[in-house]
Amino acid sequence: MSLNANLFVALRDAFPAQRDSTAIETTGETPLHYRWSDLDAATARIANLLDSLDLPAGSRIAAHVDKSVEALMLYLAVLRAGFVYLPLNPAYQAGEMRHFLSDAEPAVVVCSPANFGWLSKLAFTGGCTHVFTLGTDRRGSLLERATFHPDTHEPARREASDLAVILYTSGTTGRSKGAMLTHGNMLSNARTLKAYWNWQPGDVLVHALPIFHIHGLFVACHGALLNGSRMIWFDRFEAPAVIARLPDATVFMGVPTMYVRMLGEPGLSAELCRSMRLFVSGSAPLLSDTFTAWQQRTGHTILERYGMSETVMITSNPYDAADGKRKAGTVGRPLPGVEVRVASPDADSGNGGIEVRGPNVFAGYWRLPEKTREEFTADGWFRTGDVGHLDAEGYLHIVGRAKDLVISGGFNVYPAEVESVIDAMPGVQESAVIGVPHPDFGEAVVAVVVPRAGVALDAEVLTLAVKGQLANFKVPKRVLVVPDLPRNAMGKVQKNLLREQHQGLFQP
Ligand code: AMP
Repeated sequence: MSLNANLFVALRDAFPAQRDSTAIETTGETPLHYRWSDLDAATARIANLLDSLDLPAGSRIAAHVDKSVEALMLYLAVLRAGFVYLPLNPAYQAGEMRHFLSDAEPAVVVCSPANFGWLSKLAFTGGCTHVFTLGTDRRGSLLERATFHPDTHEPARREASDLAVILYTSGTTGRSKGAMLTHGNMLSNARTLKAYWNWQPGDVLVHALPIFHIHGLFVACHGALLNGSRMIWFDRFEAPAVIARLPDATVFMGVPTMYVRMLGEPGLSAELCRSMRLFVSGSAPLLSDTFTAWQQRTGHTILERYGMSETVMITSNPYDAADGKRKAGTVGRPLPGVEVRVASPDADSGNGGIEVRGPNVFAGYWRLPEKTREEFTADGWFRTGDVGHLDAEGYLHIVGRAKDLVISGGFNVYPAEVESVIDAMPGVQESAVIGVPHPDFGEAVVAVVVPRAGVALDAEVLTLAVKGQLANFKVPKRVLVVPDLPRNAMGKVQKNLLREQHQGLFQP
């Protein structure tokens, strides 16, 4: 008989032989230690509970819960029972949830006790018959019901091509789409990263990311689990608390904003990071400033990588110095087994649409065959929607999302190029360059700039300084100085919100 390709089986096979050692250690007022045997038993109970519901094969199990170890167990239990996990940002409100529930038609919804009233009503109206609760305090009907079930469970047999997770894309334009990821997509990527980032015995991961997204759920959790490594678990990121645990850890994964916040802590030092082996950044561009400041303060060079819900991880800066340097402002080279190409490159800049192919690439958008066809080329490459170029050493530089590209007076303006010039100016913390409607140019380049603490920036002086460095069509027609940029939960700047906010700037 062929091997069971269920991702859960591969993760459980990697649990250390010492099942009573700590798998996850929580932080906060009353830290808890979960053993590997606890992970096995609790996921078995929840998987048995799901099996007892007699759900049709391929049923979706939606989770709209706050971060907790039990929420991770729910994910693992869904894999174990062979159903399809549907993680949802707990910040989603009724309007958004109505879309996800009607689109994915989950058979089971798990929500926090506080949201049970409105969410169960929505779910039941949509035909879902099972709504459980799960709180961050280990309370709720999911665990209450699960305790009545046995703590052993034979994982469901799954093929590598079977659906494991539906991840809704953040959907900054139009309706959010469900990316279908298979057991094989995730296992191949997890194995690649384990080897490439040199996960090793004794590694300990500080986990402070949300777990409704690929970064925290897949890259971080799969990495630690597949290596049988302990996690130090934060239900939410708080810079002082996180840096205080770095001396007990070897690996940290974060979004750029986390690095900026940690740099704001006077206690951050090389001494505090002495046991650390690897700092990974992703989900949004890491500023060169942050990269350099981190190197100076801690002696560590952040490894930036690039991926997306539809493809899991695509590229990474080198782990091993023998493979090359970690270069600021780039997301590195394609991971082993993953291919990247740049379609229709611009003659001057080399920038074009980033396309990817490999075992990591998803199976398509849930119930959107047309959209899926549109996003794949005839020869089977996935169009990421990101724009960038490969440099002479094969490192990928991302210059923005295709939809964020500004076309002003017929010229292409890549926001990242203008942002990097502005960011390098004295007194600038960061910036976001957007295009807004303009009666003459079609779109006008607008820079939204955040000053460093205590600095008063002059928009005109900034504009003049940019003029000295960039062709005129790239120079912002307006520079707006603001206290901060709108970001989503993963630290991505929400340019769609900025565009909406400033769309009337040049209207007569
Ligand atoms: P998501 O599907 O929510 O993970 O968003 C994926 C998108 O985030 C990608 O298509 C990129 O636009 C962006 N992204 C992820 N990692 C990076 C990175 N290291 N640098 C720049 N953009 C990134």
